[in-house]
Amino acid sequence: MTIQAKAIEQIWQEHIFQGSWVKSENPSFNIINPATGTTISSVPFASVNNVNSSVEIATQAQQSWKNTTFETRAKILRKAAQLFEQNIQTFIEWNVQECGSTLLKAGWEANACIEQLYMAASMPMASSGEIFPSSIPNRTNVWQRVPLGVVSVISPWNFPLLLSIRSIAPALAMGNSVILKPSEFSNITGGALLAWLFEMAELPEGTFQVLSGESQIGEALVNHPQVNMISFTGSTGVGKKIAEACAKQLKKCALELGGNNAIIICEDADLDTAVNNAVWGTFLHQGQICMQTGRHLVHRSIADAYIQKLKEKALALNVGDPSAPDTHLGPLINAAQHQKVSNLVEAAVNNGAILECGGKGENLFFHPTVITNISKDDPIFTDEIFGPVAPVLIFDDIADAIEIVNSSKYGLAVAIHTARTAWAFELAKKIKSGMVHINDQTVNNEYHVPFGGMGESGYGGRFGGPANFDEFSQRQWVSILDKGIQYPL
Ligand code: NAD
Repeated sequence: MTIQAKAIEQIWQEHIFQGSWVKSENPSFNIINPATGTTISSVPFASVNNVNSSVEIATQAQQSWKNTTFETRAKILRKAAQLFEQNIQTFIEWNVQECGSTLLKAGWEANACIEQLYMAASMPMASSGEIFPSSIPNRTNVWQRVPLGVVSVISPWNFPLLLSIRSIAPALAMGNSVILKPSEFSNITGGALLAWLFEMAELPEGTFQVLSGESQIGEALVNHPQVNMISFTGSTGVGKKIAEACAKQLKKCALELGGNNAIIICEDADLDTAVNNAVWGTFLHQGQICMQTGRHLVHRSIADAYIQKLKEKALALNVGDPSAPDTHLGPLINAAQHQKVSNLVEAAVNNGAILECGGKGENLFFHPTVITNISKDDPIFTDEIFGPVAPVLIFDDIADAIEIVNSSKYGLAVAIHTARTAWAFELAKKIKSGMVHINDQTVNNEYHVPFGGMGESGYGGRFGGPANFDEFSQRQWVSILDKGIQYPL
């Protein structure tokens, strides 16, 4: 089955997906193509009343979903994966036109989603507990996995499909129902298309729903007493608010937040590989990635050569129409993001930084930028940039470099380039970062390896592979005695 794009578009423009498409009277939100500035579609926003009714629907639906056989859950998730594969071009096209993703990035993301869905389809048949001995004769102790209930997934716009599916699929696999709140900047790619996907995969009605809207819809989901878990990916500022609200309710929350990730280039690094990796890590998706290489720390002995090569490569990148196959960088997502990046660059230059290349752009486009002669305290180096900017700092002593890396409030990903891999493996233990990549760049995601950050980047590794089981279920101890015993009171 393939998506009849126009037919489904007519539906999402007038309806909200509450397990079935419900006609909406709510105001509509225009979807803008960031590359052209044109309106390409619209969706009605959900209201707080919709949140309340969706939670009721999800609560009911979860009662029967949790009791489905493991084969049923696996089959539906496999079907979702197959439908995604059959319709991959539609997912890619919407990611390009709604989110400014290049074909390369959108294609990578789509394939990663298919892997996530297949991996989740294997979860329902995994062992669901363990047996323990008991000090009481004839007693059996087991712990078993039970679902959490209703899980709300709140996602950002930069990888709108993957960062939603990496939570939706394992949550469903573990017997939860899911309400997705996509970003207001990726309502179709990260919302309406996923509603279509799970509807066509014949997921029972109400088990998955999509509520578009701005922050108040996210807040209503976070504060609803019948929502049992929030799986949030987004900025550290919003993550803190969600953590606070969840703490007050003793509600489980998973947080994958911002980052400002360092690449360390040691004196014995393979320079060409290091530069190639740094370019990918900094400029992929215009730098709008939580794992973006936002801090370059280079040993003084090779710094001039590194900066020269980095600049040459940055200048050779094509900026423009993201749907063109030879485009490397598309537009930034919106004017606010463009302004933020421009301001950071301008302030750095006013503080004495040298602009090696880039530093500006037309409309929402921003040219790949290399900045040198900065201090370690400059906001261009300490803040999450989320734009195509490579600030380079020179170091003499690796101990100083590690201290600078660890001084960040974030702790998501770090890359080290060196010929001494065993030494770098040891060094990783001294680095405050949820992920460390030796002789690679910082933007890495393998669906079966637990992913996550330290410090203000999140609560530690939790998405991917074995981590998904504990993340999206809870443990229950059950003890069984064939016959009751007599206690001494
Ligand atoms: P954001 O925090 O502004 O928004 C994320 C989502 O939260 C959106 O759906 C938004 O509508 C919703 N939201 C906003 N305020 C809310 C509130 N008070 N309560 C509930 N929901 C609320 O982030 P963004 O601009 O969409 O995404 C960029 C950020 O996400 C960056 O900081 C980036 O580093 C981070 N990110 C992290 C990861 C990761 O895995 N660690 C991955 C991608 C992006």
